[in-house]
Amino acid sequence: MPIRASVMTAPHAPMETWTLDDPVVEPGGVLLETVASEVCGTDVHLLHGRLAGVPFPIIPGHVSVGRVLEAPGVERDALGEPLAEGDVVTFLDVHEVCNACWHCLVARQPNRCPSRKVYGITYSAHDGPFGGWAERIYLQPGVRVLKLTGGLDADDVIGGGCGLFTGFAAADRAGIRMGDTVLVQGSGPVGLSAAAFASLSGAARVLVIGAPDARLALSRELGADASWDVTRTTEDERREEILALTGGRGPDVVIEAAGHPSTIGEALRLVRDGGTYVVVGHYTDAGETAINPHTDINRKHVDIRGQWGTDFHHLARALTLFARHRDRLPFRKLIGERYGLEETGRALEDVAALRVTKAIIEPGR
Ligand SMILES: [Zn+2]
Ligand SMILES: [Zn+2]
Repeated sequence: MPIRASVMTAPHAPMETWTLDDPVVEPGGVLLETVASEVCGTDVHLLHGRLAGVPFPIIPGHVSVGRVLEAPGVERDALGEPLAEGDVVTFLDVHEVCNACWHCLVARQPNRCPSRKVYGITYSAHDGPFGGWAERIYLQPGVRVLKLTGGLDADDVIGGGCGLFTGFAAADRAGIRMGDTVLVQGSGPVGLSAAAFASLSGAARVLVIGAPDARLALSRELGADASWDVTRTTEDERREEILALTGGRGPDVVIEAAGHPSTIGEALRLVRDGGTYVVVGHYTDAGETAINPHTDINRKHVDIRGQWGTDFHHLARALTLFARHRDRLPFRKLIGERYGLEETGRALEDVAALRVTKAIIEPGR
């Protein structure tokens, strides 16, 4: 049976619905019926042409949940759980890291492996159903599949979506110590997830700068203690209040998940001396910004870290923790609206305009 897929043919082009041939499922491969995929902020950036080297036309959707239709020769998921037809799973969008190059073997940072492929981003629609905005997704042999266990369902996972794992990775990268004050810049899915996992990591106080109100309210449900609307406060006003909360020193950790260059200077001026700053919101090129290397970095003795995407261990650890603390992590509440395959253009517009926090694509709708 042919597969209907929503295709981004080029930056700024209207979305098209294509029909693809069913793939031949190789031994070790898994064919999924898509339950839900999502619109990540990166998909909006892809449409705006802000990521280099994307092989348009593509089927977007890098984080998805699906039901196993066929899995010849695959008896267990990546963590050894029994896997059978009908099981609901998610998977790591990144695969084909080579385990043989300098980045994989020496630096041990497979997220910088040049062979790395990403579902929904680095495959052409001509290659096959390798994106979530389609009725079925073909997971090639070697893609890491994880069955949803511990009471987690599709809405839990896709409500956080890509941001859930990216926010987890950013909080993890920050090396939060128990009792720290953590400031998160940005209240999209990545920022909300970073705030949630910072709180679970033992932060004494989690602060969020973002917008709009609905997202700031969600941040408090997910574990933030205080928030500032970036559109209604000035940097000076925020600075005064945040310094007052931190003994005049500033937060121990700042996590950037806003994707706007102006946030960088504000964070470097705010973070305490010797603190840590993690930049995760600039996955695509949003431009440049001015900083003062003397006052903002050197004299501050600040530790600045970038976080590029996620690896399998982030996915596995985030889902394990999520299952344990499902009641504290209501990511499903991020879901703003559900869209069918013919409505992906509108979904992209709604995310770009911040009308929904998380737009879900349900190809079966
Ligand atoms: Zn490699
Ligand atoms: Zn994403």
